[in-house]
Amino acid sequence: MSQITTTLKALQDSIHAKDANQPEFLQAIDEFFATLSPFLEKNPDVLTHNILDMLTEPERIIQFRVPWQDDAGNFRVNRGFRVQFNSAVGPYKGGLRFHPSVNLSILKFLGFEQIFKNALTGLPIGGGKGGSDFDPKGKSDHEIMRFCQSFMLELQRHIGPNIDVPAGDIGVGGREIGYLYGQYKRLCGNDQGVLTGKGLTFGGSLARTEATGYGLVYFVKHLLADQQDDFKDKKVLVSGSGNVAIYAIEKVHELGGRVLTVSDSSGYIYDPQGIDLALLKDIKEVKRQRLTEYAKARPSAEYVADQSVWTHEVAADIALPCATQNEISESHAQLLISNGVKIVAEGANMPTTLEAVAVLEKAQVTYCPGKAANAGGVAVSALEMSQNSERAAWSFETVDKTLDTIMQTIYETCRDTAEEFGFENNLLAGANIAGLKKVSQAMLAQGLV
Ligand code: GLU
Repeated sequence: MSQITTTLKALQDSIHAKDANQPEFLQAIDEFFATLSPFLEKNPDVLTHNILDMLTEPERIIQFRVPWQDDAGNFRVNRGFRVQFNSAVGPYKGGLRFHPSVNLSILKFLGFEQIFKNALTGLPIGGGKGGSDFDPKGKSDHEIMRFCQSFMLELQRHIGPNIDVPAGDIGVGGREIGYLYGQYKRLCGNDQGVLTGKGLTFGGSLARTEATGYGLVYFVKHLLADQQDDFKDKKVLVSGSGNVAIYAIEKVHELGGRVLTVSDSSGYIYDPQGIDLALLKDIKEVKRQRLTEYAKARPSAEYVADQSVWTHEVAADIALPCATQNEISESHAQLLISNGVKIVAEGANMPTTLEAVAVLEKAQVTYCPGKAANAGGVAVSALEMSQNSERAAWSFETVDKTLDTIMQTIYETCRDTAEEFGFENNLLAGANIAGLKKVSQAMLAQGLV
């Protein structure tokens, strides 16, 4: 074993020992460490200055109680968090997730990935993530409002336009950001740059809602263009039916592809005619209903209850997992390969297990990691921050065009960095190394802080 491999292994072991009860965080660490050796060989400063030791330890973790009152008048309590992981490149930036599964392991994995994702956007934003184990499912609008107000009552003292700028993630969309911002304003004043994903009437950016899904498809568009190919007539499998999935589908359809599936936590839809987007938007965005309603309204659709969409056998070209972490297992990856899928691009964060990634790589399926492929959301968040600072509102076309260019640059950076360090066709290695390169340079330049 080379000196570098031994040093990396020792650090990895010590993180495993310290955070033994944080499986998702350890997964993100292992996936990252597996690709670093060639970069560290050329950049010994990173190891001699213990940059990796510092980078894997969050700068600050805030945990707090969120008391709220339900509609029946009962006092309820949830746990709130903000992980301020790394601020070398800029203010902490990253979403808030409201979901019963939220714990420190999940937020640390998300915050860790966010550092490199944000660095890859080329914009000056650091990495963070937060949220709560609050379950928004089945809650009334008033309950959501009271919960958001209580959450912000504590969070406000830890954030600011130049400190930490949260946004949405699973369970936190435009409605929640509105309530969170309203409360922030009451407590701290009308400082719009403190949150992104705001409504268009109070400092939000056009194309922010679409950005993660559109950006994902732009990333794949540039990858396909490299192979003299495009989305025309491509069959695409999508999981999820939230904001990322919806706007990925919209863009795939616009570029001439056909999306055959969507899913939620209780099952999935297979629609060989292609997903009817107007119907899907009405059910998910307007009526906030479940996918069973889609099947009722659409004769061509088949609803499969209690099954993962990744168990569906059907010929397809591209898979876009847009639901949640670890949704694609090893056996799902094998099925994707036998379905004929050639590209897997992650709209969600870490939806593919380490074992599944290995299966895909072995079969030469192009794997586009979330930290690169879904960076469009946070990139447009950073553009929203720019607009807030200059008290301006850019046109949809300006933001969308900038997003496309950013995704092209991210794709090319991952491709070229991978090649430079001997990982040809390995976009994951390219993303990790390019992200680390920028963050480690920023950390080294700023000294021991
Ligand atoms: N939650 C999104 C992500 O995973 C967006 C974060 C943001 O806009 O700050 O990147």
